[in-house]
Amino acid sequence: MNTMGNSVRDTVILGSGCSGLTAAIYAARANLKPLVIEGHEPGGQLALTTLVENFPGFPEGIQGPELVNNIRKQAARFGADFMPGHLVKADLAQRPFLLDFGGSKTVTARTLIIASGASARWLDLPSEQKLIGHGVSSCATCDGFFYREKKIMVVGGGDSAMEEANFLTRFGREVALVHRRDTFRASKIMLERARKHEKIEFITNTVVEDVYDVSKKDVTALKLRNLKTGKIWDFPTSALFLGIGHEPNAGIFTGQLDMDDDGYLKTRDFVMTRVPGVFACGDVQDRRYRQAITAAGSGCAAAMEVEKFLEKHER
Ligand code: NAP
Repeated sequence: MNTMGNSVRDTVILGSGCSGLTAAIYAARANLKPLVIEGHEPGGQLALTTLVENFPGFPEGIQGPELVNNIRKQAARFGADFMPGHLVKADLAQRPFLLDFGGSKTVTARTLIIASGASARWLDLPSEQKLIGHGVSSCATCDGFFYREKKIMVVGGGDSAMEEANFLTRFGREVALVHRRDTFRASKIMLERARKHEKIEFITNTVVEDVYDVSKKDVTALKLRNLKTGKIWDFPTSALFLGIGHEPNAGIFTGQLDMDDDGYLKTRDFVMTRVPGVFACGDVQDRRYRQAITAAGSGCAAAMEVEKFLEKHER
C-alpha cells in the first residue's frame, strides 16, 4: 500500500490541469492538505499548448506549460501533495470513498474533486492508430519539430486546429488544413490568422479516409474525399495532426455519476455531482466554454464546496 493511502484524506483531486491545480490552491489554503493525482497527461491540455493569449493577467500572453507549472508551484507552496497515478476503480457508494490506483495503491477520501479533463479525439481509422508516433500526432507542440521543411496536414475546424496549423508553420514547408465543412467553429481571430498565413492552405468539405505509409514506416500520404463532389484523391504529406476536439475522461465513473450523451459529467450548481461530496470541474464537466480560465474558475468553486461540505458533514 502506498503511504499516501494510510490515512483518510479530506480531499483528493483527480487531475493536474488548470482546474485541478486551482482547486488544489484553494483546498490547500483552507488547510485541507489536498492530494492531487497526476495522471497520464500531467498539466492537462495547457501542458501541450503554446502561447496562451487570453488568460487574464498576462498582457503579452504566456506559454501554456509555464502557466500550468506556475499554478502547480503555487499549490505546492500552500501544502498540496502530489501523487502520480491512474484510477482503475472508484467506489463512491462507501464512505470514505475508496480510490484504487492499481498495484495495491489505494487512497481513501472524504471528498473527491474530479478534474480529469479531456483527451484528444482521434479519427479512429486503423491506419491512423497504427501510425501514431510515425507521422500521426495530436500534439503539435510535442511533435511539430520532427517535420522541419516537410508537408504537414492538420484536421479540424475549431480553435485547436487553427492553433496547431499556425504553430506548425514554424516547421513545415507547407501546412494544409482539412475540415469536413466550410464553416468553422474556430474563433474569428484565430481563423483569420490561419487564413492570412501564406503557408496554410485550406481544404474544406473534405475528410481523411485513410493514412498511407508506402515506406512501411512513416506517413507518406492521405486518402481524401470531398463530401460535396465525391472526388477522392491522394494527398502526399509527412504528417497528420489531429485537432478535432477532445473526449471527457469520465468513463471510470459510468454507473456511479450522471453523464450526458457524450460522456461529460453532469453537474448542478456549477460543480455538484449527484453523489454528495463528489465535485467535478473543468473540461470533464464543461462542454460549453472549455477555456483555461473557466476551468480555473470551476476548480476554485469545487474546492470551496469541498470546504463547506466537510464543515457540514464530516468534521
Ligand atoms: P471544437 O471546437 O469542438 O472543434 C473540433 C473540430 O473538429 C470541429 O471543427 C469539428 O468539426 C472537427 N471534428 C470533430 N470530430 C471530427 C471527425 N471525426 N472528423 C473530422 N473533423 C472532426 O474543439 P477544439 O478546437 O479542440 O476547441 C475546444 C475548446 O477549446 C473551444 O472552446 C476552443 O475555443 C478552446 N480552445 C481555445 C484555444 C485558444 O483560445 N487559444 C485553443 C484551442 C482550443 P465540425 O465543426 O464539423 O463539428
